[in-house]
Amino acid sequence: MSAVEAGGVFRRARGRTLDAFPSEKEREWKGPFYFIQGADPQFGLMKAWSTGNCDSGGDEWGQEIRLTEQAVQAVNKLKPRPRFFVLCGDLIHAMPGTPWRKEQTADLQRVLARVDSDIPLVLVSGNHDLGNAPTPETVAEFQRTWGDDYFSFWVGGVLCLVLNSQFWYDASRCPALKQAQDQWLDQQLSIAGQRECQHAIVFQHIPLFLQSIDEDDDYFNLTKSVRREVADKLVRADRVHTVRASNSSMLLVTPPRQLPDPLKGPPRASLRFLHGGHTRGPWKEGSSTRSNNCLGWEMAWSCQQRGRVAEVTRRQWSSRGKTRARPVLQGRPPGVTAVFSGHYHRNAGGTYQNLDMVVSSAIGCQLGQDTHGLRVVVVTAEKIVHRYYSLDELSEKGIEDDLMGLMKEK
Ligand SMILES: [Zn+2]
Repeated sequence: MSAVEAGGVFRRARGRTLDAFPSEKEREWKGPFYFIQGADPQFGLMKAWSTGNCDSGGDEWGQEIRLTEQAVQAVNKLKPRPRFFVLCGDLIHAMPGTPWRKEQTADLQRVLARVDSDIPLVLVSGNHDLGNAPTPETVAEFQRTWGDDYFSFWVGGVLCLVLNSQFWYDASRCPALKQAQDQWLDQQLSIAGQRECQHAIVFQHIPLFLQSIDEDDDYFNLTKSVRREVADKLVRADRVHTVRASNSSMLLVTPPRQLPDPLKGPPRASLRFLHGGHTRGPWKEGSSTRSNNCLGWEMAWSCQQRGRVAEVTRRQWSSRGKTRARPVLQGRPPGVTAVFSGHYHRNAGGTYQNLDMVVSSAIGCQLGQDTHGLRVVVVTAEKIVHRYYSLDELSEKGIEDDLMGLMKEK
């Protein structure tokens, strides 16, 4: 029986979700937590890189075994426990159909089987796992070996989306699979909006971009047109925002760019009241609450302003810009707030609107000046804070006090 079949940490994603996190228990926000992100153990690349032939499968991977063992030991030592350990692709170096693939896979599974069973592993597919131009066969092989290539799960009120970025790189040999993921992603993003998750985050192998949404195309990013389309989809400029008044709900149907100033109130026809399961409205300025069957709006209303929920009292509402106090901004930006990736073998990243594009260096081969390492990601009610640690640093010192402090915040 292989390590995968033996179960334990290899609770493979199935049916587009991960049973380590039952969604009925995990939908509610219960307070700050953290997880560990790693990328590119890529068993075999260090040897292939040293010989100048990265197209070969890499016929030795002893160094990567030791580094990944060190990573696993460091993760197992952490207190409190991370909620999960995600590996953002390029698990091994040998491409589908090339020598050493089976051996590299078996060795990685043996090492990962030592992750403590109470720290679920989340596995993301990379170009070396699926091939640069994946086919239905290579995707099926990944699913048999590691689990679904894309799936979602809830953890502590946060919706996590694991994506197959290879479909955005080259889907010429599997167009139907790409289309299926695109449709599934649209559904997930709409679920994220309706259920008001605390945050929505994405894990994928290839970064959308390394520093900036406008940077040139490169081996290590997605092409300009694809990245813009995906990024816009993730930040969901067209999402229907659900906001709440005190005893009713409103659906704000304007895209964020056209959101009203909370001090001036919503523009006419931009709000629909949702009450008792059906929509009312459009809201008319000056109309009574009772005629709209929404009894709470006189006391308070909220509207999403630049991705934040602004509570505005009646006085602020009626004073029309003469308000003395600014509304308190709270809540989360709309859409996905962070994308975690690998592939670059260096640390990098940038922002696009409210989206934090995080590029983490490798557990295995480094192509820049970074150390072999892992990223600690702390999720609080308000924000997602992350820091990259060398494997030595993380095993010796654990997580720094300021990150631990964030987790104690209520
Ligand atoms: Zn890669």
